Amino acid sequence: MVESIVLTPHTSDRFIWRWMATGNYTASSAYRAFFTRMTSLVGAKQVWRAATPPKVKFFWLALHGRLCTPERRQRHGLQQEATCTLCDQHHEILDHLLASCTYTCEVRHLLAMTGLQRFGPSHDARLADWWQQTRADVPRSLRRGFDSLVLLVSWILWKERNRRTFHNVTKSPAQVFSLICDEADSWIAAGYRSLAALFAAVN
Ligand SMILES: [Zn+2]
Repeated sequence: MVESIVLTPHTSDRFIWRWMATGNYTASSAYRAFFTRMTSLVGAKQVWRAATPPKVKFFWLALHGRLCTPERRQRHGLQQEATCTLCDQHHEILDHLLASCTYTCEVRHLLAMTGLQRFGPSHDARLADWWQQTRADVPRSLRRGFDSLVLLVSWILWKERNRRTFHNVTKSPAQVFSLICDEADSWIAAGYRSLAALFAAVN
């Protein structure tokens, strides 16, 4: 990437804020860029409204927007083979990781066993399609909790993917399921009532 860059000696670096014609940063343009990006994202409205800690919202936005996903990495020639680290079978694309991967399906099967049947495996689905369709069947009063749990599960799965990719440590679907339960407990303890309502409704 830097090969084509020619440095001009004796010239200081300049910051250019690409969202303003003037190149200068303004808070309003940052918000505008952020929300424009948000509305173009999968499930953006739900993500924004969902009751989750901010870190999880930003994880989601980063994942769909800027983060170097394997597809992007591959496009830029950074990685020739991007095989799913969870199942070691398919290409590692986001919909596969978070929806149709056999590993993900196993985790979701365990969730379904607790009474959260809607979280059952969705072998062929795109995450966004599954999310929209399933959400439509969830009682209105439980939808925020449902969205929170979708994000929570995706976040934990993504962390497992990173653990494997960067630390060479693997957890079984049962261990990841138990991490999901612990995380949900701590969100509920922190006052995420919509998530509590969702769990109360299935118990
Ligand atoms: Zn997989």
